[in-house]
Amino acid sequence: MFDKILIANRGEIALRVIRAAREMGIKTVAVHSTADSDAMHVRMADESVCIGPPPSPQSYLSVPAIISACEITGAQAIHPGYGFLSENAEFVQIVEDHGITFIGPTAEHIRVMGDKITAKDTMKALGVPCVPGSDGGVPDLATAKKIGEEFGYPVIIKATAGGGGRGMKVAMNADEMESAFMTARAEGKAAFGNDEVYIEKYLTTPRHIEIQVFGDGKGKAVHLGERDCSLQRRHQKVFEEAPGPCITPEERARIGKVCADAVAKINYIGAGTIEFLYENGEFYFIEMNTRLQVEHPVTEGIFGVDLVREQILVAAGEPMSFGQDDLEINGHAIEVRINAEKLPNFSPCPGKITAYHAPGGLGVRMDSALYDGYSIPPYYDSLIAKLIVQGRDRAEALARLERALGELIVDGIDTTVPLFHALLQEPDLRSGDYNIHWLERWLAENMEQ
Ligand code: ADP
Repeated sequence: MFDKILIANRGEIALRVIRAAREMGIKTVAVHSTADSDAMHVRMADESVCIGPPPSPQSYLSVPAIISACEITGAQAIHPGYGFLSENAEFVQIVEDHGITFIGPTAEHIRVMGDKITAKDTMKALGVPCVPGSDGGVPDLATAKKIGEEFGYPVIIKATAGGGGRGMKVAMNADEMESAFMTARAEGKAAFGNDEVYIEKYLTTPRHIEIQVFGDGKGKAVHLGERDCSLQRRHQKVFEEAPGPCITPEERARIGKVCADAVAKINYIGAGTIEFLYENGEFYFIEMNTRLQVEHPVTEGIFGVDLVREQILVAAGEPMSFGQDDLEINGHAIEVRINAEKLPNFSPCPGKITAYHAPGGLGVRMDSALYDGYSIPPYYDSLIAKLIVQGRDRAEALARLERALGELIVDGIDTTVPLFHALLQEPDLRSGDYNIHWLERWLAENMEQ
């Protein structure tokens, strides 16, 4: 096992990793920009190294700075968290070339899944059901129009290198194709340096259901059921729950096995998430994320496992601590993402926290790097806390969420907490009757945007 690991991240996810490492008796190294000298992850780690100025390209995304920090401190492995360098195959290669272990999948797996066309082809070949669409990349507008006619509108044009909801445009009809095609291409080029796009049938009322998988890198893999992340704003998740309110045990077992078998076949190592759209009882693969997800705690809650601990174990060459038969669902868990944003427009709202009180009690987990007097810097993601609640069933989890949100105090800045108070009054949310478009529609009707 490692003696010391470095966490190439900040905020709540850096704390999350430090906590797992500490329970395993592993020392931790935090890295930080000059804007984060007072950040909680720096205070909580055993050691810290300043790796550059505030802008992420010069600090949290600076590969030479992170590798140097490892060498200076003698850290034997790097946990990337999510975002930043977590899905950067080149970074993984460089880490390994320096004799440091990357806590995550291989560079090759990241490369395959990071290109959406290759990912889809790979999954199809492994027997995973996919959204009907173009066979690979679509070279020009004429071909795009032909595909639109063939599959029938609406269709979605996606940048193969896209991510984080960027590089995707919907064409409702043939007239919209030109602008959608050109915009998706331009966005792909501008944001990811790759203008290749492909086309999928646009599903009109799907839910977003994702399957958590975990592999040991030696041909053994398990699934940890699904998360329903259908409540999204601009393709970004805001509320996640497990198990999915509409998934039956039979469906879970079936799609879970398809996913576990697929990743076992490619000797996948570590945590991964296979994302699907789910409509009329069918699953359609959209992408695989080769890292820990923001919403992993809901899965940890219902299965009672520590996914970060497991990531560290397999990265160190040790066996996984559970097999498929050890995994049983216990109750229901919900996560809400609390952002430093001002409603109704969700405009970023960094600043000084003048008072902070985290909720507690049975079934409440608060993953956050906030503290009294902390100043949220304006340079990074606006996620400031994940409130995760668990109950014996969905109704209990919802009641607990309402109670916990009521206890939370974050003064000095605006947050998205009022959004969740309002959503909890909605009958559709209470009954679990929502799809990926529900929240956008609700926001348009209930908040000026
Ligand atoms: P990203 O990598 O940017 O997150 P994804 O491919 O995972 O992109 O898609 C993100 C979201 O976009 C999905 O959760 C869903 O809301 C929507 N979406 C993607 N593909 C389709 C599709 N074929 N039909 C309808 N909605 C889609």
